[in-house]
Amino acid sequence: MDFALQWGPTAALVAAGGYILLLVLLIRVRGLPGSTERWFAAYLIFSALWTVAWALANLWRWIRPEAIEAGTITVVYIGATLPPAVAVLTLHFLPRRGVREVTMLGAAWAVAVILLERGVLNSLRLRSDVLFAYLRPGGWLAFNIGSVLLTAIEYARLRRPLHRNRVLYWLVALLLVAAGEGMHFIRPAQVGELGLPLRLMGAMMMTYALTTYSLPDLRSVGRRAVLVIVVALVRVSFYVAAILGAVMVYQFIRQANLGEQQLFWLTIAEGIGIAVLMALLQVPVQKFVTKALERLLFGPGYDIYRALQTYSQSISNILHIERLATVAVATIADALEVGRGALLLITENPEGGANVRVIPGMGDIPAMNVAFAPNSPVLQALRDTGRPLTQYDIDMLPDFRDLDPKERQWQWALDVEVYVPIHAKRTLIGALVLGAKQTGEPYYARDLDVLKTLAGQTAVALENARLFEDQRQLNLEISQLNQELQEANVRLQQLDKAKNDFLNITSHELRTPLTQVRGYADILGEMVANDELNKPFLLKVAQNIRKATDRLEAIYSAMIDVSAIGVDALQLHFEPVAPKVFIGQAAARWRAAIEERHQSLEIRGVDHLPLLMGDPERLTQAFSNLINNAIKFTPDGGRIEIWGRVVQGSEPVIEIVVSDTGIGIDAKDHELIFEKFYRVGSADLHSTGTTKFKGAGPGLGLPIAKGVIEGHGGRIWVESDGYDEEACPGSRFHVLLPLRRIPPDPQQLTEQLRKTRPVTGLSKRLKKGEET
Ligand code: ADP
Repeated sequence: MDFALQWGPTAALVAAGGYILLLVLLIRVRGLPGSTERWFAAYLIFSALWTVAWALANLWRWIRPEAIEAGTITVVYIGATLPPAVAVLTLHFLPRRGVREVTMLGAAWAVAVILLERGVLNSLRLRSDVLFAYLRPGGWLAFNIGSVLLTAIEYARLRRPLHRNRVLYWLVALLLVAAGEGMHFIRPAQVGELGLPLRLMGAMMMTYALTTYSLPDLRSVGRRAVLVIVVALVRVSFYVAAILGAVMVYQFIRQANLGEQQLFWLTIAEGIGIAVLMALLQVPVQKFVTKALERLLFGPGYDIYRALQTYSQSISNILHIERLATVAVATIADALEVGRGALLLITENPEGGANVRVIPGMGDIPAMNVAFAPNSPVLQALRDTGRPLTQYDIDMLPDFRDLDPKERQWQWALDVEVYVPIHAKRTLIGALVLGAKQTGEPYYARDLDVLKTLAGQTAVALENARLFEDQRQLNLEISQLNQELQEANVRLQQLDKAKNDFLNITSHELRTPLTQVRGYADILGEMVANDELNKPFLLKVAQNIRKATDRLEAIYSAMIDVSAIGVDALQLHFEPVAPKVFIGQAAARWRAAIEERHQSLEIRGVDHLPLLMGDPERLTQAFSNLINNAIKFTPDGGRIEIWGRVVQGSEPVIEIVVSDTGIGIDAKDHELIFEKFYRVGSADLHSTGTTKFKGAGPGLGLPIAKGVIEGHGGRIWVESDGYDEEACPGSRFHVLLPLRRIPPDPQQLTEQLRKTRPVTGLSKRLKKGEET
């Protein structure tokens, strides 16, 4: 009777019991809610069956060697299901796609193995025994290597230590299972028995990784093991050294030919000496080795009390939230060796949720804000527990399964490892968030405790900073409001001035002709009373009455026009019209006045301009107003020029410039002069008369011109180097008119103009009177 044969089946039966126990554990802890659990349960059942079959096959071999076939066959059949099952399970665990494909591949492989084994394919004259010999280990190798590789890649890819740790468990489990299974292919068969415990251990680790949420850090477990072993070795070497030393010294003493008595005492003394040496040396050396090794394996660590002290000192007087975030995160980062972190400002909103503002403190944390929904499990956890929450918790615990996708996206963007809530007077006011440790280690329970304490210390500083921030914000808003108020005030003053000017001007403008009419009426009355009817004089009176009423009518129509423009009711009658016609008519109105003021008017480049769709009367009116202004605001003897051209583009336009050598216009008034009733300077300073120098009217000429031009889909603006009555820098009024009726987009118009020729260059040339 061979011992190994008895030992193997017994061990296998025990292992089968182990698988059943694991199955019970799995069902009790997790139940079978998902396909991962169900696959794993199936895997455990098949493992148990396989182990029992293996035990029975070996027992048979032992009892009845001729029955060996049946047992081995069962082992092969069940064995063929295991490697694909592990591969599919791995895909579920990680989780990765391709479950269906791998399942099908696994099934095909298992069927092929069974068919080959049964010799079904023999009839096809395939060397099925050779195929079988390759296909079975080949498939086994492929599925196992695939699983291990996939897991190893996932491990390398993951950055979060706790997630990595879980994957590391799986990786070790896979290696154990693969090694255990591999042993069955090795001869002599007894080696296979060693595979049994390895496979069971692998299954145990898988069960552990699947059923336990907080897995001990495998790497630090490994390091701890190294530490224990090395320290034990140091101790052992001490004992060995002591014993060997004692023996050597004893032998040396023995050779010295001493008397019995002396030998006895010397031996005693030697023993005591070595014991004392041991007592003196062993503890410090052991301590030294332990410390050095701890430093080597676990890094320098940190002194909690010093960390706390430094922290509270550095943040206590900070009032700026950004600075608080930077200092708080940097101080913590320094102690825990973290590279990224931020401060979250959490403000509860009336709906029960909370608004979160991210203030980056260190590293590449995006300042991406989010609003937590009232039922957000993350918000609830931060609000209620007061304990730091890890991203691993959020990813793993069922409480967080129904997270709002928006929140999940935000977490991905933030990419932090731990959220440490900050409470003030039982209200959640913020959180410190920290990225992964640079050492690649997870946050241990001790770290989380320290972070909780630090968060407590941050609360006061954060509250102060928030108050300060609110105050600053308030001040900012107040000063903004002030500014707006001031601007509104200035505008109101301008409007008020325009209104007053209007009243002054209209009363002045209206009264002058009215007074004249009344005066002439009185004269006529007196002439009749005195019977002094002088014909030529009467004619003069009639002419003057006519002039005064014409003036009244002009002002009245201007007021009607401008009010029509104000309500977008300017009636335009479009027809094809040549620019030279309306410009010529407008200029003709003012020939006499220009002569009277000894000014010159030159019109160039207008004759050949193409026809455009427009209202000839209104366009005449608009240009008439521009020419009138040019006359009024240019000293006697000055020069007025009108210049036109076509600006080509997708929508061709005509540009006409009316320029003068007058007093010019201050830049601040360039837009205002197109407002109704706006006139530069004080109304009192203006003289009356439509053509006199600085003889301003009611401030309606330009608004009307603008209304007419814009009614044609065009634009009008002024360019002038400023207001100066001495130097007379002049003004250039630019008018753009589209050739087609459909008004082009104003922005496109400007662009087009800019591309063809710089406007200012044109105007300057115009000013110099250059021929083009
Ligand atoms: P009005 O000429 O009746 O005062 P406008 O609307 O035509 O009203 O012009 C508004 C103001 O713009 C004028 O009072 C004047 O101060 C200024 N202005 C208009 N055209 C010129 C010009 N060519 N040169 C200097 N200033 C001008």
